[in-house]
Amino acid sequence: MEEKINGTGKKQVESLEARDLAHIWHPAAQMKDYEALPPIVVDHAKGVWLYDIHGKEYLDVISSWWCNLFGHCNPIVSDAIKAQVDKLEHVIFANFSHEPAILLAEALAAIVPQGLTKFHFNDNGSAAVEAALKMAFQYHIQTGAPQRKKFMCLSEGYHGETIGALSVGSMDLYAKMYRPMLMESIHIEAPDCFRCPYGKCRDCCACECFEHAEKAFADHAKETAAIIVEPLLQGSAGMRVYPTLYLQKLRKLCDETGVLLIADEIATGFGRTGAMFACGLAEISPDLMTVSKGLTAGYLPMSVTCATDAIYEAFYADWSEGKAFVHSHTFAGNPLACAAALAVQRIFRTQPILPNAAVNAKWLTKRMTDELLPHPNVGEIRHIGLIHAFELVADKKTKEPFDAKKRVGYEVYRRALAHGLLLRNVGDVLYFNPPLNITQMELDTALTRAKAALLEVLPA
Ligand SMILES: *Cc1c(COP(=O)(O)O)cnc(C)c1O
Repeated sequence: MEEKINGTGKKQVESLEARDLAHIWHPAAQMKDYEALPPIVVDHAKGVWLYDIHGKEYLDVISSWWCNLFGHCNPIVSDAIKAQVDKLEHVIFANFSHEPAILLAEALAAIVPQGLTKFHFNDNGSAAVEAALKMAFQYHIQTGAPQRKKFMCLSEGYHGETIGALSVGSMDLYAKMYRPMLMESIHIEAPDCFRCPYGKCRDCCACECFEHAEKAFADHAKETAAIIVEPLLQGSAGMRVYPTLYLQKLRKLCDETGVLLIADEIATGFGRTGAMFACGLAEISPDLMTVSKGLTAGYLPMSVTCATDAIYEAFYADWSEGKAFVHSHTFAGNPLACAAALAVQRIFRTQPILPNAAVNAKWLTKRMTDELLPHPNVGEIRHIGLIHAFELVADKKTKEPFDAKKRVGYEVYRRALAHGLLLRNVGDVLYFNPPLNITQMELDTALTRAKAALLEVLPA
C-alpha cells in the first residue's frame, strides 16, 4: 500500500482505505466488492457535498441513506446538539425524563396524523418496528382477542433487518437466508404500478390490485393482529410508488375487521413525499406509526413508535396485572438526539422547506423526463415528493428486466461515483432522495452526472 505523510508529519504506513478493510465489516455489502471499489473515506461534509480524504467531492443525492434531511453539517441542527451536549448527554429514560424529550413529544403530537398521541422512543428504525409489532400483538391479548397472533405485510416490503422486522419484510435479498428463523407472516401481493398486471396506470386505476388484500383479509383477518405497510412508497423495493386510494381502502378494511394498521413512515416521514407524512397525503390515520431516518436530520440514531390512546389505554393498569409494555433500549429518548429532532421541527416551522421542495420536485420531474426517459433502457421515471427514481430495463416495450447477474444498476452507481455523484441503486433502479433544501443548481449537477454515468454503462 502507498505510504503517506499525514498532517503531523508522522508516517502512515498504510492508507486509511487499507486499514478500514483490515478491520471493518461494512453493512449491506459483499466485502469482496471492495477489492474493485475500496471504501470512500469521507473527511468532512457540507450541505449536499461530501469531501473524501483525497479532496474528491461527491454530491450526496441520497441524503446518506435517506436520513440527512437538511444537508450535512446544518448549522441549526449542529448548534442544537452542541448546546445540549454540555447540559445533559444521556439519562435513563425509565422513571426519568428531560425537557428535550417532552418538547419533542409535544412537537410530534402537533404534526402526526390525527389520533396518534403517545410516543415510545427507541434508537433505530428496526427497533421502532419491533416495538409496533409487539404493541399490536399485546394489545389484542389485553383486549380479549388473543387469537390474533399473525401479521400481514406487502410483497417487496421492507421494515428493517432485525428478526421481527425481517419477518414482515418480503424482500428475498434481506430475508431469504433467514426464513427458517423468522415468524410466518401473511404476504399480500403489493401494487406494482410500473408492471401493472391489470394494464392500468398509477393515476388512472381503481386499485384493482387491492383484491389481493381483500382475499387475504377474508381468509386471515380473524387471526391477524396488524398489517404493516410503507405508505405510498415501497422504498427499498426500488422506490415503488402506489396510489393514495390503496391506503384509503386498506384503512377501511382494517376498520371493518379489527386488524390494526401500522404505517411504517421511517422512510416517508418528515416531508419526503411532499407532505409531512405519507398518511397525510392519503388523509388516513394509522393505529401505530414508526418514524426514524429524517427525525434527527440524519445526525443521531433515534426512532419513535407513535400510538393511539386506544392502544395506550389497553396497557394502562396496575403493575400486578402484567399489562405493561416491557420493552426498552438503553439509548431510548437520548437527549442529544431529541435536541437534534427539535431543531428539525424548528426548521420546518421557520423555513418554507416543503413549499420550496415542491417547486424543485416539479422541476426535477420535468428535467428527468426530458433528459433520462428518452434513453432506450430507461423504463420509467417514478417520483413522489423530491424522491425520483428511474428503472433500467433490457427492453423498453416489454419492460423486460436485465439479467440480474449483469448488475447494470450497480455499474451505473459505480460510474456515478467516478463522476462525483453519490447515487444509489436497488437492483436496476437508481434513485435521488436528496435533502429537502437541495437547490435546483445542485439537482441539475446531479442529473448531469447521473446521465453521464448512465451513458457510459448503456450508450444510447
Ligand atoms: C430504513 C428503514 C427501516 C429500518 O430502519 P433502521 O434504522 O435501518 O433499522 C424500516 N422501515 C423502513 C421503511 C425503512 O426505510
